[in-house]
Amino acid sequence: MKSPENLLKSFFAERIKGLVQSDIRRMSRECERLGGINLGQGICDQPVPDSVKEAAKSAIDRDRSIYSKFEGIDPLRERIAAKMADYNGIRCDPDREVVVTVGSTGGFVAACLAFVEPGDEVILFSPFYGYHRNILSLCEATLRFVTLHPPNWSFDPADLERSFTEKTAAVIINTPSNPCGKVFSRQELILIASLCQKHGALAITDEIYEYILYGEHRHVSIGSLPGMEERTITLSGFSKTYNMTGWRLGYAVGAAPLMEKIGLLNDLLYICAPTPLQHAVMAAFDLPPSYYDQLCADYARKLEMTCAACDEAGIRPLLPQGAYYLLADISGLGLSDDKEAANFLLGRAGVASVPGTSFYADPEDGRQQVRLCFAKQDGDLEEACRRLRGIRTARP
Ligand code: GLN
Repeated sequence: MKSPENLLKSFFAERIKGLVQSDIRRMSRECERLGGINLGQGICDQPVPDSVKEAAKSAIDRDRSIYSKFEGIDPLRERIAAKMADYNGIRCDPDREVVVTVGSTGGFVAACLAFVEPGDEVILFSPFYGYHRNILSLCEATLRFVTLHPPNWSFDPADLERSFTEKTAAVIINTPSNPCGKVFSRQELILIASLCQKHGALAITDEIYEYILYGEHRHVSIGSLPGMEERTITLSGFSKTYNMTGWRLGYAVGAAPLMEKIGLLNDLLYICAPTPLQHAVMAAFDLPPSYYDQLCADYARKLEMTCAACDEAGIRPLLPQGAYYLLADISGLGLSDDKEAANFLLGRAGVASVPGTSFYADPEDGRQQVRLCFAKQDGDLEEACRRLRGIRTARP
């Protein structure tokens, strides 16, 4: 096409003008182009449990292929409600308070469209998951950031209190968090809950990494705290726990009047989540408790391996409490910034990471960091670690 670039740009809606491809995606493309090992994007390329794969094949063979209700198939919502009661301490009615979404991101989009007006203030902790920030920006929210401070990723309660105003529509919680792995403590969540109640705000909480926890850290859902059942949208999904990031299956849980609106938006945006996969994923609920212990043990081992390689490479790990990412301080490499470090790690060691600035409200906070994802098969992670260890000698 020959049209001048300015003409083409004039077609863009105002709301997408600032939007660019995420560093997560950009680094994956670069990694593929250069044939590197991808510790950038949180792909989680380990096998799906066999029983779930078998159930998927069977659902396809049985032609479970047509639209489901927009809120998802009944037996899956029942299993989700049972899990919410058992694991999250949240009682919900499977008929009116659960919606199966297209990934937890699908639930997040629906929640933001339903409950955030242009100009509303929304509180986001920094570092944040960039997709949360960008979806909120698309909804024209005014963002107020609260900084999480390493090494414990704690926040200053006064800072949080100050960020609430009469315009606050919602606070976004991501626990365990991407990218820093913070697991919000019960005490912290109680404070957030009291501020939500005081200011009439909603809590939108993305708990997709809820089963991946290290050491003594335990998962607490803000939706289980007294007074929060009416004002919390809890989002989770199957992607990370069962290694199926490409299946795009998540769910949202909350009070019936709120979920009715999320259901309507889920219908409008997606019609429903993929039906054969909804049938298949029910098998995941039959996995024994040992599956989840093994998941944590495996990730703890992978984390340790990645940290040891970072140490040897002169990169300082900033320890996560959960999830499967590691923010690491690259100042020891003596490079100018995070982008140069990510390019260096990919170019010299063939290992992709994500530049730290993409996760922070103030880019300065991430200038000397990269994010590494260790949700890889052991063989690939071992090779990536071997390459990382070798960069000491490859430094410019
Ligand atoms: N949640 C994953 C990450 O942070 C994947 C996101 C994505 O593919 N855009 O890397």
